[in-house]
Order: sequence, then structure tokens, then C-alpha cells
Amino acid sequence: MVSRVIPVEVFDLVIFGGTGDLARRKILPGLFRRFCAGQMPSGARIIGAARSDLDDAAYRDMIRDAIAEFGGEQACDDAHLSAFLEQLDYLKIDARGEEGWARLREIMSGEDRIEAYYFSVSPALFGEIAERLKKWGMADADARIVVEKPFGRNLETARDLNRTLATYFDEGQIYRIDHYLGKETVQNLMAVRFGNMLFEPLWNSQYIDHIQITVAETVGVGDRGEYYDKAGAMRDMVQNHLMQLLCLIAMEPPARFDPDAVRDEKLKVIRALDPVDPHHIVRGQYLARDGTHPSYRDAVGEPRSHTESFVALRARISNWRWAGTPFYLRTGKRMSARSSEITVVFKDTPHSIFGAEAGNHRNVLSIRLQPNEGITLGVTIKEPGPGGMRLIDVPLDMTFADALGEDGADQVDAYERLIMDVIRGNQTLFMRGDEVEAAWAWTDPIIEGWVTRNEVPKPYESGSDGPIDSGNMMRRDGREWRKVSP
Ligand code: NAP
Repeated sequence: MVSRVIPVEVFDLVIFGGTGDLARRKILPGLFRRFCAGQMPSGARIIGAARSDLDDAAYRDMIRDAIAEFGGEQACDDAHLSAFLEQLDYLKIDARGEEGWARLREIMSGEDRIEAYYFSVSPALFGEIAERLKKWGMADADARIVVEKPFGRNLETARDLNRTLATYFDEGQIYRIDHYLGKETVQNLMAVRFGNMLFEPLWNSQYIDHIQITVAETVGVGDRGEYYDKAGAMRDMVQNHLMQLLCLIAMEPPARFDPDAVRDEKLKVIRALDPVDPHHIVRGQYLARDGTHPSYRDAVGEPRSHTESFVALRARISNWRWAGTPFYLRTGKRMSARSSEITVVFKDTPHSIFGAEAGNHRNVLSIRLQPNEGITLGVTIKEPGPGGMRLIDVPLDMTFADALGEDGADQVDAYERLIMDVIRGNQTLFMRGDEVEAAWAWTDPIIEGWVTRNEVPKPYESGSDGPIDSGNMMRRDGREWRKVSP
């Protein structure tokens, strides 16, 4: 299958934090892949901006190394890489001072073209960069800014940040990234739900028993310990990525696939969420493993840390569609496998014509986001052979790489898709300010409750699927977590 690539218009993209980890690991290798795919026009310019003392040549060397390390398998040769690097410049700038800003204005004041500013720096600098872009005349009506996560650490700070950015830019110019929304399968959620007649009539509490959303990682906190210990899994994963998945799975069909129609429906889901009862939340913290991996507390260097590296919770959406169907959310580090999966468990058939010995069988729709992106529908059939009506469940499996060939697999990384959307001016896959605030309004009381009760996370073995209480929480509801499988 040959994928169609439509080149975007000529643009200037300034990456504040162009020397940082995210720029080197994701943004620039992603842009290079778009260049190789023929999507980046030859007149486009990318300007890496940071405080380090580099010239263009040294910066290009840095990015050449980064692409070699993080670019993945390239269907692209050295000539392409050199041509891409030719479109890359470096500017020494201080987001907190005046150095570099006059030069940036000079660079950006040429011919009329799309201007995008990617804030790939600490969130503490977002406001200062926005302010300076305005002060130096670069916040004109066509300019776009891309803001990384975390977007605040609670409702108050998110509101402050929204207010600050709104002083200089309109909402239509602000692209708040949640890279989960750029994943192929996440968009496929909408295609599956709203492009097929098969699912939507069944997509409600009358037919669906419950839905599980799991984002499991095998890695620990690594070198993000200092940041992570102030955040925890609730802020780092649930408030953004898991909430976004929940919204896409639970929202009403939008009238159109356009940014505000989609985001209005997502917002309604968040606003319909009930507060979570503390009995329906389990927090965990991973322990050391065989001397090979340090415990969470050792990894962050805080022997008494109460920060969670795992959360499981039961959410309820109070609306006509979902009353009575719980949503179980689970995410953690150092779990048994790396896997992001949404599982829709349908109800039992109302009556079994095959008798008790046939057992209970339920249709289960699994949407795998990573790895092996694809969709599996468990269907009940007769076990082949003689011996009466014995039933078994078999998967109708559609792994995208198998079904669509190499081109259908997730060739386009989330970041590259999202950056191209910024250039196209399409905000559908970006979070709106009110959505982010609503998500914090739901998560804040949960986090505040832990602090007030001085709650200590439950320990769990590294390589397991979280604390025993997580399974117990499900069993109390007469349900089981799906096995986390790679
Ligand atoms: P990082 O590696 O610490 O890079 C920070 C960048 O900011 C560097 O290029 C640094 O370069 C520049 N910088 C620092 N102070 C500056 C100043 N005063 N003026 C101009 N530039 C300045 O951070 P990162 O991991 O790339 O993360 C960047 C943002 O993305 C953060 O908001 C983070 O939360 C978010 N994020 C990162 C990841 C990831 O995988 N890394 C994932 C999700 C979200 P100089 O020191 O040369 O100035």
C-alpha cells in the first residue's frame, strides 16, 4: 500500500529548546522523516534556539548525531540528511533575557510564510517566551505556538498558564501537545467508532459491561526522577494521556471531524465524570528487582517518597450513554510488559441456548495502541470436532502492520504528525484550554485527598502488574484486569 503524502506549505519553525532531549529524540528526527517522505517543502526553515554557544555547523552536527541515534530506520540516504540539515539553523537566545531576540525578529521578518514556535523548554519558561514573542513583534495573528506537557500541575497553575498565554495569543493559535493524540491507533479509535455502522449502536451501557484502559511501561523513572517525584503517575499520565483516551472512547459522535466539534464532545465527557471514591483508587510504588533495578525510592533519591509510580482507578461517567458502565484506568512503571491497550468488554448474551456447560462467553474488543498496533475482536464460536456444543473464543485479529503492509504500520510517529498538523493549522488533535482545566478539576481532588490523608502508595514488585489491591479492586466489582501482554 502506498501512502499519500501531501506537502505542507512553506514554513519557519523555531524550536525553543532546540538542543534539548525532546528536540533531539523526537522533534528533529520526526521532521527529518517528514522531509524524507517529501512532506517538508524545500524552502522551509527550522531554527533551533537555546542558550548554548553553538554555530550552525556545530548544531547541524549535533542533530546529525541525534538522527543517527534516534531516527530509527531511514529509507533515506546521506544526501537527504545533508539536504535536510541545510534547512536547519541555530540561534543563541535566552528566554529569560534579551539576548538573541532582535536577531530572531530579523530572521522571521522576511517573506510571508507560516510561522510556528515550539516551546520545547521547561514549562517555567512558557510565559516568558510568549511575552517576548509579543514584545518583539512576532505574535501576529498567523503565528502558532506549540506548548509541551506538563500543562500546569493543578487547576490553578493550568488556569494561570492559560491566562498568560491568552494575553499574547488567541486560543486558535495555541497548540497544546498530548503526543498520545498523534498516535495512529488513537485516531483510528475515531475511525472505528464513527466510520463503521457495526459498533456505534452497541456503544453504550446497554451492551458494554465495562471498559479498561491500560498504559503499562516496563521502564522505571530513569533520569526523570527529580521531575517525576513531584508529579507522579496521576499528573504524568492519567490527567492527560489516559483522560484523552477515555474521552475518545466515551464521547458522543461529533457533528464533524473538525477541531471544535471534536473538542466540545471530549469536554462533555470530562465534565460528566463523577468524583472518584477513594475506595476505587489504588496507588503503588515499585520495589527493587534482583539487584538489577533500583526501587522507586532509590531511583528518585527520596527514601520516604509518597509519590505513586502506579495508579488504578474506577471512573464513572454520569450521562445517558454510560450510566452503569464503569471505566477502569490503570497505568504504571516497571510493569510486566510495555503495552497500551483499550479493552471494551461486552455484556453476556441475555440467554444461553447452549446450556450451562457451554460456559459464559463475552465479546471483547481490544484496541492496541502499542506495540503491535491493531484491533482484535473476540468472537465466540463452536469448538471444532465432535462432542456437542462446546464454545470457545477466537480472535478476529487485525494487526495494522499485517493488514495494511509496512506502509500501514505506524510509520508516522506521533510527533511528526502533530507538527505537520501545526503547520496545516489543524487543532483537532491538540488539547483546548478548557479541556485541560476540566481534566485538572477532576484529578485535583483525588491528589489532594492523598495528601490530606497522608496516604502511602502500596509497594509492588517490579515486573508485576501493580499492587495486589489493584486486582482486589476489580474483584470486588466481580471483574478481572486483562493480562498486560507485550
Ligand atoms: P531538556 O533536555 O532539559 O532541554 C531543555 C532545553 O531548553 C535545552 O535545549 C536548553 O538549552 C533550553 N533552555 C533552558 N533554559 C533556556 C533559556 N533560558 N533560554 C533558552 N533556552 C533554554 O528538556 P526536554 O526533555 O527536552 O523537555 C522540554 C519540554 O518538553 C519540557 O517542557 C518537558 O516537560 C517536555 N517533554 C519532554 C519529553 C521528553 O521526552 N524529553 C516528553 C514529554 C514532554 P540550553 O541549556 O542550551 O539553553
